[in-house]
Amino acid sequence: MSRIFINYRRQDSEGYVGRLYDHLSQQFDPSDIFMDVEAMKPGVDFVKVLEDAVLACDVFIAIIGPQWLDVQNEAGTRRLDEERDFVRIEIESALKHNKLVIPVLVGRAAMPGTRDLPKSIAALARRNAFELSHQRFAYDAEQLAQTIKTAIVPVNPSSKPRASSETLRRKMRELKNLRDQLFDARTSPLYAYRIENRYFPVLGDGSPDANILFIGQGPGEYEAMQGIPFVGASGDVLDEMLLTIGLKREDTYITNIIHDRTPDNRDPIPAEIEFYAPYVDKVIEIIQPGVIVPLGRFSMGYILRKYDLPEKRMRIGQLHGKLLQSQAKHGNIFILPIYHPAMVLYSARERDTLRQDFQQLKPFV
Ligand code: URA
Repeated sequence: MSRIFINYRRQDSEGYVGRLYDHLSQQFDPSDIFMDVEAMKPGVDFVKVLEDAVLACDVFIAIIGPQWLDVQNEAGTRRLDEERDFVRIEIESALKHNKLVIPVLVGRAAMPGTRDLPKSIAALARRNAFELSHQRFAYDAEQLAQTIKTAIVPVNPSSKPRASSETLRRKMRELKNLRDQLFDARTSPLYAYRIENRYFPVLGDGSPDANILFIGQGPGEYEAMQGIPFVGASGDVLDEMLLTIGLKREDTYITNIIHDRTPDNRDPIPAEIEFYAPYVDKVIEIIQPGVIVPLGRFSMGYILRKYDLPEKRMRIGQLHGKLLQSQAKHGNIFILPIYHPAMVLYSARERDTLRQDFQQLKPFV
């Protein structure tokens, strides 16, 4: 995960940035330092890649040199005044997501005032700046590195120790047994529909020892055709959100509150949730996650009732992105309700809400 983001304008401060990168990469893993558009593959949406990288960082360094304010494009417009200027996009994103933003002045540049900046990044002017001088470069860079170290979120406070291969084998066996039982679940209210349509039941997918357990609503058509959760459009959104916290789906475990497709993907009814509840409970017991992430109101409702949390009558609009705590059979457990990823498919504006809520999972990565 890129934890340090270096934002700069090539024409303005390239030499300083190169030296700073060399210094920082001796103290931090170079893969934790994100600084160049050139590191992106051709064809990718660079705005989105930049926003994702900013979102995943802990510290955002804005390098400001003597030309920073005034660099212009070929048409004579100040670059900072262009909405698609990448320096501006990155700063906007860092400010919007309340990142620790450190302006770093190089080449004797002065800190710009609020009035010199476009409105969307005017708040940058209020951040305390750090000066990196040519003469004392090594000393100043070291001071900056120390500041960054103290700012970086402590890594993995809630991560799980790696399971032994014996534990992993046992968990895989237990999940397979559960999947076999689900295949034979003839008393399920959705069994006849499953067989009629030659669908598969969908227990889950991912690491049997994951620290993060996602619980979605229920398989859609693609999922039921393949027996794997979140492989359709909602799955793409989930993958995208995972990426913003440096995870792939195989680092987590993904299940649903019901394990068979409902006709026309209608919402699950209470009898269906009740029928599959023992399977959900058993998945939790096997995986033993540090955090359960109910995706959407149905799985949230079930999990809050299961752990008898005082918030169990609250709506997802009030609880999304809030980290709750309870006790599971295997010990302390966190619960982080999040909107269902499909919400982004209906309303693109909600993408930012989802991204922000996903950031709460960083300590569990
Ligand atoms: N939506 C869900 O809730 N679960 C899936 O598996 C797919 C889409």
